[in-house]
Amino acid sequence: MTDHGHPESALQAAFLQHDSTLAPSSRVPGEDDSAVYRTLLESTKAIPWKIDWATMEFAYIGPQIEALLGWAPSTWKTVNDWAERMHPDDREAVVNFCVAQSKAGTDHEADYRALTRDGGYVWLRDVVHVVRNDKGDVEALIGFMFDISERKRTEEKLAQLQRELEHLSFHDSLTGAGNRRMFDEVIERTWSAAQESGKALSLIMVDIDFFKSYNDYYGHLQGDECLKRVARLLGEAAGPDHFLGRFGGEEFVLVLANTEADTAVRIAEQCRTLIAEEAIAHVRSPHQQRVTASFGVGTIVPTGRTDRTAFVNLVDAQLYHAKENGRNRIAAVDRAGMQGEAFKAYSR
Ligand code: GH3
Ligand code: MG
Ligand code: MG
Repeated sequence: MTDHGHPESALQAAFLQHDSTLAPSSRVPGEDDSAVYRTLLESTKAIPWKIDWATMEFAYIGPQIEALLGWAPSTWKTVNDWAERMHPDDREAVVNFCVAQSKAGTDHEADYRALTRDGGYVWLRDVVHVVRNDKGDVEALIGFMFDISERKRTEEKLAQLQRELEHLSFHDSLTGAGNRRMFDEVIERTWSAAQESGKALSLIMVDIDFFKSYNDYYGHLQGDECLKRVARLLGEAAGPDHFLGRFGGEEFVLVLANTEADTAVRIAEQCRTLIAEEAIAHVRSPHQQRVTASFGVGTIVPTGRTDRTAFVNLVDAQLYHAKENGRNRIAAVDRAGMQGEAFKAYSR
């Protein structure tokens, strides 16, 4: 109402009007209007139900249940029918939870997959209200089942996107190898694990030879293809147990947990062999006009006194030696070398 005492709108006026000539069906339903309640309950998408606490039998379930799951209301007799029509993976946890909550007299809700008559499953959310009598004893459970399959599909899609995003943030989009960020995490984790286990950790750093001239001659796009092929071969040589990362540009790195020097060198040799067998043409390379790579290999058993960055730098220095000595080769420093003067030179 405005302060002039007039109704603000026709709609408001309509609400304010108390007209005894209104049809009975537009009254607010009273105690005896069970037909109205029933119509309301049975025309919503949510499926109402009631279970008597004493007998654990369904006193009522909305007819909508048949459209959703295919089971007629008459087939819902006891709580066992409810429990048995639940996905086996959900059953125990959901039944235990609902029983405990009901016994405690607590309203609750549970999500689960309900079995359909044709053998499929539909995600339901059951919202349960515990009804007590005047003395406070539990008398019945009443609730609504909601079809939440659409929501679950959306959640699953979101989770999938989340996984993809995580993959993208840890992988190089060109080659699919781990990116620098992932390398940092992997080397840190592997280093700590090796410190604890006392087992050797090896690192292989790889750099494609004369790659600038490859790009200059064949173009950047073919350069990208070459990077992808080399990454695939390195991954093959490393196997599924070891980490392959793209360190940047045409440099890659392999982190080999629990791997002694001889095995690490063998893996580097395998990388070199696979690249040779791939025989990627590179007319400006002095190595039979084929794409080649150089490798630096290092092995260490990290202790409290060894520095991770110094180790990485020392392996990088091996790669530099391999380049200096003509490329298309492997230079390695073993565990003894790690403890010698060379290592000290790279320690901070
Ligand atoms: P070296 O034998 O001493 O390793 O010489 P190099 O030519 O391979 O090394 P340099 O560092 O001079 O050149 C690396 C080249 O790698 C330069 C750059 O154009 C190329 N490169 C880096 N990242 C990419 C990339 O993502 N795609 C392509 N196609 N080329 C790249
Ligand atoms: Mg380089
Ligand atoms: Mg290079």
